[in-house]
Amino acid sequence: MKAYINPQKCIGCGACIAECPSQAIHMLPGFRSEVWAEKCTGCGHCVELCHRKAPIFCSEGIPADC
Ligand code: SF4
Ligand code: SF4
Repeated sequence: MKAYINPQKCIGCGACIAECPSQAIHMLPGFRSEVWAEKCTGCGHCVELCHRKAPIFCSEGIPADC
């Protein structure tokens, strides 16, 4: 499984970007973050740390599953 960040919940605080051990998250214009699925190892760190509960696990490349 890969992490997917719900753009409706992310406020772009950057905490997950700083803490992702795989450097798999980057900031998009408009202050919301996005996961590069090809880099995500599914460690779950971003899911645990986000106070907005924006990152969730889903099937790779299929956010509609979430
Ligand atoms: S920690 Fe949560 S709110 Fe902050 S940038 Fe990451 S996903 Fe968005
Ligand atoms: S699950 Fe782990 S590797 Fe994937 S984006 Fe979140 S912190 Fe990074």
